Amino acid sequence: MDIDSVKELLHQNNFRITYERELVLDTFLKTEKIVTPAQLFELVQRKHVRVGLTTVYRLLEVLTKLDLTTPFLVNGEIYYTFCTHQHHHHFICLHCRRVQDVFECLPFQNISRYGTMTSHKIDLFGYCVTCEREPSQEVKH
Ligand SMILES: [Zn+2]
Ligand SMILES: [Zn+2]
Ligand SMILES: [Zn+2]
Repeated sequence: MDIDSVKELLHQNNFRITYERELVLDTFLKTEKIVTPAQLFELVQRKHVRVGLTTVYRLLEVLTKLDLTTPFLVNGEIYYTFCTHQHHHHFICLHCRRVQDVFECLPFQNISRYGTMTSHKIDLFGYCVTCEREPSQEVKH
């Protein structure tokens, strides 16, 4: 999903795209890691543009409503990643916080004994191949 399709969706939902909001959105779409609102704010700050923390929260809030982001609870903190509407799962590295989209599903057996399943949400946590190869590697947030 490119930034223009996201902007179009936001526009349809009466979310005005300002320069600051677009910058936050662009940064969020490009990060390959799960981020806290504060970390996303910091990434935007590195571009030397003045953006309020409320802009970050506001954008994450509207993306959550549109189902374009998934929140994760890791060590008691809420992290976010940008998500497309295509059904997928996430593999999250607990070391470097990289998130990889997984487009395969686990086979479920005997679910009918509990009821009728209409959807599912599964996220996988572990260590990515890079971190597995170099476990001592310094983590940069
Ligand atoms: Zn996703
Ligand atoms: Zn990793
Ligand atoms: Zn699935």
